[in-house]
Amino acid sequence: MTTRVVRSIDEIRNAVTRERSSGRTIGLVPTMGALHAGHASLIDLARRQTDCAVVSIFVNPIQFDRTDDYNRYPRALSVDVDFCQARSVDLVFAPAAAEMYPHPQGAFVEVAPVSEHLCGRFRPGHFRGVATVVLKLLNIVQPDRAYFGEKDAQQLAVIRRMVADLNLPVTIVEVPTVREPDGLALSSRNQHLTPGERRIAPMLNRALRVARQAIAAGATAPEGVKNEALRILSQAPEIRLEYLEIVDPGTMQPVAAISGPVRVALAAWIGNTRLIDNLLCNPEEAQAPAVEQGSRAVTASRVS
Ligand code: AMP
Repeated sequence: MTTRVVRSIDEIRNAVTRERSSGRTIGLVPTMGALHAGHASLIDLARRQTDCAVVSIFVNPIQFDRTDDYNRYPRALSVDVDFCQARSVDLVFAPAAAEMYPHPQGAFVEVAPVSEHLCGRFRPGHFRGVATVVLKLLNIVQPDRAYFGEKDAQQLAVIRRMVADLNLPVTIVEVPTVREPDGLALSSRNQHLTPGERRIAPMLNRALRVARQAIAAGATAPEGVKNEALRILSQAPEIRLEYLEIVDPGTMQPVAAISGPVRVALAAWIGNTRLIDNLLCNPEEAQAPAVEQGSRAVTASRVS
């Protein structure tokens, strides 16, 4: 089979309508391109769970709070199309910005309060831009299922809340974070790291794993857990931490005490590159740490 690349909203609507009228279910994987094994994991799941896999590739201008970040975001459409072809994607939807935003956008989606903390505090307008473009894509493609990575946990929480509050007829599927063998979460932005920066980048995940161990060992005070993680990060002065928070996994609000599953999330700058990562941490794992560790080490590339 050949992956078909379409650039216009009319074309993708027609193509998807044809698929649906022959009884096929539709899976959508929204991306900004520069595809890597993290995206592949979403795509492969969409291929397995639905009959027609659609990958959107669109660097969405309205979710960038800094123009330099938008301008230098990696773009490699023909490589991405080959990547999709190799994974048997049916349709790639790669619109130009003028196709998605033919005139200045007047309607926006605000999702409160999940977008208030963490990245929401440091990237004004980011989640408004994300929610707006995802709603546009869901309206254009009308998939049965849409796939998002746990790597962007706050984005996932924003989208889940938007889908629930606006009664959107789509199932949101969460896909675990894919990592390098040294723990660094795969990201299109990793390619901006210099070799020296790349060497220290896994410390972000190491700090999160230390926090997870403390929680599994029974720590209940967020400040104490944060301090353990901060101690790891302080070993690398090149890492400029933006935030490290312990939040409720559903609402993304900071917790006063750890009494159930929490998400430990951070954002940090290394040189000119901003990276994010997070881990779901469960105090109940204190009872069975050995099982927990064994079950997590699924493959060398998934150190979560
Ligand atoms: P992006 O192209 O960065 O906007 O990401 C598109 C989708 O891929 C989002 O749902 C991300 O959460 C997901 N994604 C990005 N990196 C990873 C990763 N390392 N593991 C799993 N999913 C990821």
